[in-house]
Amino acid sequence: MDVLNNTEVPEDLKECIRFHGHLCPGIIYGYRVSKEAMRILKLNRSGDEEVVAVCENDSCSVDALQIVLGTTSGKGNLIIKNYGKNAYTVISRNQNKAYRFSRKSFYRYLGKEKEEFDVLEQAVASGMATKEQKKRQKFLKSMDLLAKPFIDIFETKETAFVMPEYAEIASSKACEKCGEMTMATKLENFNGKEFCVPCFETSNKPE
Ligand SMILES: [Zn+2]
Ligand SMILES: [Zn+2]
Repeated sequence: MDVLNNTEVPEDLKECIRFHGHLCPGIIYGYRVSKEAMRILKLNRSGDEEVVAVCENDSCSVDALQIVLGTTSGKGNLIIKNYGKNAYTVISRNQNKAYRFSRKSFYRYLGKEKEEFDVLEQAVASGMATKEQKKRQKFLKSMDLLAKPFIDIFETKETAFVMPEYAEIASSKACEKCGEMTMATKLENFNGKEFCVPCFETSNKPE
């Protein structure tokens, strides 16, 4: 990937791109929000669950939060509420504070390659863009979003929040149908037996 050799691209953003698989505007949105949250809440990457992120979409941006903020699906400190909004709440448990970042307005390219970008935009909008054109358009938009002042992209507000519970830790038990070990709190009662969810759902429901 040529973008990984590009010196304009910061190292931690390259990490996001490696993890995510490509550079796209979504990754930049997530990257910018993560960096800003770390700056204003004075955070380090979350090793445990001291930082929690609530993402109001399930798009590319989420991967940047996982890499930069350390809010990961495996640790349980990444909560997805897919409202289809480019908005994120970052909660610091230590400081008992949270900020919500929400995207302000329509995107407008303000970079140096305006003419080239407009041609690419038209090609993309018409559905006639080649793969290379699409890639170039994403690159230009991404670099423009990277360069813009944060305040021009996102609105930042301190917000009230309900402190999320820590990730649930429960012992495992064998499902009484398939025998597979299952987190005890996820087992369902089926005629007095404890079934895992797939077994429960494929069994005849009791009367
Ligand atoms: Zn992407
Ligand atoms: Zn089962």
